Amino acid sequence: MTIADLPQRPNAPSLDAFWMPFTPNRRFKADPRLLASAKGVRYETVDGKSVLDGTSGLWCVNAGHGREEIATAVERQLRTLDFAPTFNVCHPIAFEFAERLAEIAPSGGGEKLDRVFFTNSGSESVETALKIAFAYQRAIGQGTRTRVIGRERGYHGVNFGGVSVGGMLNNRRMFPTLPGVDHLRHTHDIAKNAFSDGLPEHGAELADDLERLVQLHGAETIAAVIVEPMAGSTGVLLPPKGYLKRLREIATRHGILLIFDEVISGFGRLGAPFASDLFGVRPDIVTTAKAITNGVMPMGAVFATREVHNAFMTGPEAMIELFHGYTYSGHPVACAAGLATLDIYEREGLLTRAASLETAWAKAWEGLKGARNVIDVRRFGLVVGIELAPREGAPGERAYDAFTEAFRRGLLVRVTGDVIALSPPLIVEPEEIAEIGSILTGVI
Ligand code: PLP
Repeated sequence: MTIADLPQRPNAPSLDAFWMPFTPNRRFKADPRLLASAKGVRYETVDGKSVLDGTSGLWCVNAGHGREEIATAVERQLRTLDFAPTFNVCHPIAFEFAERLAEIAPSGGGEKLDRVFFTNSGSESVETALKIAFAYQRAIGQGTRTRVIGRERGYHGVNFGGVSVGGMLNNRRMFPTLPGVDHLRHTHDIAKNAFSDGLPEHGAELADDLERLVQLHGAETIAAVIVEPMAGSTGVLLPPKGYLKRLREIATRHGILLIFDEVISGFGRLGAPFASDLFGVRPDIVTTAKAITNGVMPMGAVFATREVHNAFMTGPEAMIELFHGYTYSGHPVACAAGLATLDIYEREGLLTRAASLETAWAKAWEGLKGARNVIDVRRFGLVVGIELAPREGAPGERAYDAFTEAFRRGLLVRVTGDVIALSPPLIVEPEEIAEIGSILTGVI
């Protein structure tokens, strides 16, 4: 059977059955935007219009779309070993992929976090990291540490642990959250840091919130603190200079594990393989997903230090050390996609390419300073957050209008509240960056 033998897919299917995620369903279905194919940095809609991918899909297609070698690797794996469990039996490719990830694992300038636990998404990576943190503390005789600290305006996925430690109002208000969680204040301060070039100057002292929470709850009750080195989904919030180092120092002083959620910042988004490396801070646990397979197969990975991992490896050998895992942990087809993705990242230097695009990226957003309704532009690596003044009584509507108009003009952007975020594939060329900047500046 070849592709030509497969039944044709409808271009205009009924939209009723699919309950879409994170989307105003009725508004979308009244005026749908349907993408049919993609190559490089461009999508094509069902009616043949070209749309620049300003968001790498959802921060995941870092090597660009339609990479033949990933498709071929996936096809070979599907035809060789489509599925096998990783509970008590396994397959070579899961070990091979973990070893390859270990070679490039985040290190923050110290020993690499080269022990890898596989998941299927960012949300699952977060739940896994939290469970490892609790179980680690228990394993080293610190079983009273059952509390975890997140941060306001953090986004850690949609499962109950992630929603509880996250700090995004709309994610939390509809659902009960777990007890035993407290939050640092967020670090976003437009009054002091608007239009900062690079990392914000002000706000390192906000890391002292962790010290304050230690004084409030007692260090012996806190297992871990989790933050995104750069918060993407709540509007591109950059860490103030010195903030992450300070957080590391306080966490270490009190025996609290530091978890970096690098689901977005991992795999080259900021100009280094991981934000931990770029900022020179070594966390104990790092969560990843998205670009680990270039977005083509659902997968995530949690990296842990050997100190954390080895603490589990001391009991009787017949014992399962960590009672946790997913049917699809280390799925062979996802591993094949991941290995092919890492090959591309390495061959094309994509994990550091964002740094070399800095000048073109900065130039694309120059025109927005002083533009009407633009109250901040935050740019770092190959990411920009453009914050608009909200319309009175209609928060988010100005950015939503910019999103629909940009799409009409052939550019996909992402909006959260009144922030427009862009993060194109790391293969983007300077001319395409200029095109992205010019379309969006025109829209705004
Ligand atoms: N953590 C962070 C920092 C994220 O940005 C996201 C998604 O955007 C997640 C976790 C959740 O990932 P997923 O949607 O794959 O579950």
